[in-house]
Amino acid sequence: MRTVFVNGEYVSENEAKVSVFDRAFLFGDGIYEVASVLGGKLIDFPAHVARLHRSANELGMRVDVSDDEILAIHRELISRNGVEEGVVYMQMTRGAIDRDFVFDTDKLKPTMVLFTQSRPLIETAVSKNGMKIVSIPDLRWGRCDIKTVQLLYPSLGKMEAKSRGADDAWMVRDGVVTEGTSNNAFIVTKSGAIVTRPLSNEILPGITRAALMAYSAESGTPVEERAFTIEEAHDAAEAFITSASVFVGPVVSIDGVELSGGKPGPVTLGLRKTYIEESLKRAL
Ligand code: PMP
Repeated sequence: MRTVFVNGEYVSENEAKVSVFDRAFLFGDGIYEVASVLGGKLIDFPAHVARLHRSANELGMRVDVSDDEILAIHRELISRNGVEEGVVYMQMTRGAIDRDFVFDTDKLKPTMVLFTQSRPLIETAVSKNGMKIVSIPDLRWGRCDIKTVQLLYPSLGKMEAKSRGADDAWMVRDGVVTEGTSNNAFIVTKSGAIVTRPLSNEILPGITRAALMAYSAESGTPVEERAFTIEEAHDAAEAFITSASVFVGPVVSIDGVELSGGKPGPVTLGLRKTYIEESLKRAL
């Protein structure tokens, strides 16, 4: 049985409770972060906390714990649950109050929940075999840059991908790829540049995306921030996704069209290795 953190207390997962009036339950009025753990240490942690503050600011939500406390809670859960490899999920909501569309921020105390999930992240089926992707229309709301718990469309998108024999879906808006259901989308051109669309309200500013782009630029890999179509991806040398829990995930087919011979591509595997090595150096 795991220990989870709920509103200032460490409790057993079967005793953890939040109110039925919590605005995340009734309105999806909550934000979250997922940070990965390797060797018991947190990967890209300061950037995840910075994005939590950004999400809170965009929604006018209070964060009433300090960054040091947030780190201490993560570490305490990693230690209590003996997490060597896995993730820490952190959710903050606007709080619980009788159901009403309008709310008075002064009367609300934010809800804070954290839990861990232990699972292999380095040696996985995705890292070995890659992922099959299908494309679906991007029907999400207009503020995909805020990391809210409104994940119904991405969840149904992943379910559709599974039902079509794939592992995940890339979403397409206005003819170009926005991002994956829970990751950022990249292609590698035949000349070896990596391409991903620029940040806007239409995608989440991925922490892994930003770190990988910085490591790539440092190592001399050209990085192009521009939108691309599914057709361009079909014709690319390689494709991959980035996310905190997958790191760099090779894509081996898109809508049934094989890439890099249906196997993880060499540039992708090199970037995955670089990302893991570099982020371990900075792990907390
Ligand atoms: N886009 C979306 C829609 C996501 O849900 C995620 C993961 N939460 C990402 C991108 C990747 O972000 P990160 O690298 O910070 O995990």
